[in-house]
Amino acid sequence: MNRSFMPAFKTQEELAAIQLAGLQWTVRHAFEGSPFYRQRLTEAGVTPDQIQSLDDLKRLPFVTAQDLRENYPWPLLSVPMTRIVRLHASTGTTGKRKVLVYTAKDIDDWAEMFARCYETAELSREDRVQICVGYGVWTAGVGFQLGCERFGALAIPAGPGNIDLQIQFLIDFQTTVLCCTASMALLLAEEIDRRGIRDRIHVKKVIFGAERSSDAMRLKVKTLTGVDHIFDIPGLTEVYGPGTGLDCTCHTGIHYWADYYILEILNPDTLQPVADGEVGEMVYTTLRKEGAPLIRYRSRDLTRAIPGQCPCGSPLPRHDRIVGRSDDMFIVRGVNIYPSHVDEILSREKGVGSEFQIHLDHYEDGKDYMVLKVEREEGGRPEADAALAAKIERALRKETLVSGKVEIVDYQSLPRTERKAKRVFDHRT
Ligand code: ZN
Repeated sequence: MNRSFMPAFKTQEELAAIQLAGLQWTVRHAFEGSPFYRQRLTEAGVTPDQIQSLDDLKRLPFVTAQDLRENYPWPLLSVPMTRIVRLHASTGTTGKRKVLVYTAKDIDDWAEMFARCYETAELSREDRVQICVGYGVWTAGVGFQLGCERFGALAIPAGPGNIDLQIQFLIDFQTTVLCCTASMALLLAEEIDRRGIRDRIHVKKVIFGAERSSDAMRLKVKTLTGVDHIFDIPGLTEVYGPGTGLDCTCHTGIHYWADYYILEILNPDTLQPVADGEVGEMVYTTLRKEGAPLIRYRSRDLTRAIPGQCPCGSPLPRHDRIVGRSDDMFIVRGVNIYPSHVDEILSREKGVGSEFQIHLDHYEDGKDYMVLKVEREEGGRPEADAALAAKIERALRKETLVSGKVEIVDYQSLPRTERKAKRVFDHRT
């Protein structure tokens, strides 16, 4: 048996001591190594000596994605450039990409964190891990690969796309673990079902990355492939990449690596901690990152903390799945709506398939209109569409306080993509 990647601490007091030491180190390291941080901390009137307790975190100024863009390309660089061994960049759909730099130790730490993910999912060195996410300047493929090799399982770097090749690999190499986006898993599962080859596929676990999976998608993938476990891997380039935590096989929430970073969950408007169990923005402070440390980095990702201890006994704290991004929020008739909330409403309705789209439009009367296109479930009866649409419209109005029109469309009539599914189509501008 190889070594464990789990943390050494057993109690919350031990964790707090690790976090305080890491916080003190990080603030001093950033202050001394980065002109950006030195200026920010000085403006906030904070010197490294003043960090005496975890409570002093509150005194530190925030860093935003905007800061990363404005100081492109090496915004948070805190070591001499000669110590940097790699860079990664975000896919960057708006404005300039976010570029993050890594020292050799940062890469090593990331491998340890990611290997811990595989250990949390209870993989063994016998497992064969087909990695069907993008390889390139972004962190996805290389992160899954690095962690898999560090853990000691067999990595199959299949990359994204090419369903025929993926299925051939699944059969020929007897893949046991699949790492991909939820959309890709759904495509593969439907294709395996269509070809009637389920008995030749040996996948036991699926690890979803890069995209929030809906309950309906998870159920569909599970039903079609017969896998035992589906995990959601969170992560962001700013905090190394994917692999910042994972749910264990109890699936009670995502255990996160609190010995590598401090996670605050804050109200995005007031920047104060949310009440227990409330949804808020994930704000990260890294504890060991050298190349580009983060101090109170606002990720825009939304989740809630899960209190108490997991039945697995792990002392690692938990957060819920990412429920959306504060950026994804759209406004209809003055009401804030998250696509994830619509998804949640749909996942409670029987007769609904796994895909949906939200279309926003502006009519001549100047009012906003929301049309929700929802797929009928596989084998569902079109005669039941009207009743189903009316039921969803009622639920939508009750929960979001906005009226919308629901159109039920044929199963598989909405596009499937291998990348993140686009949910919101705003035709108003
Ligand atoms: Zn657990």
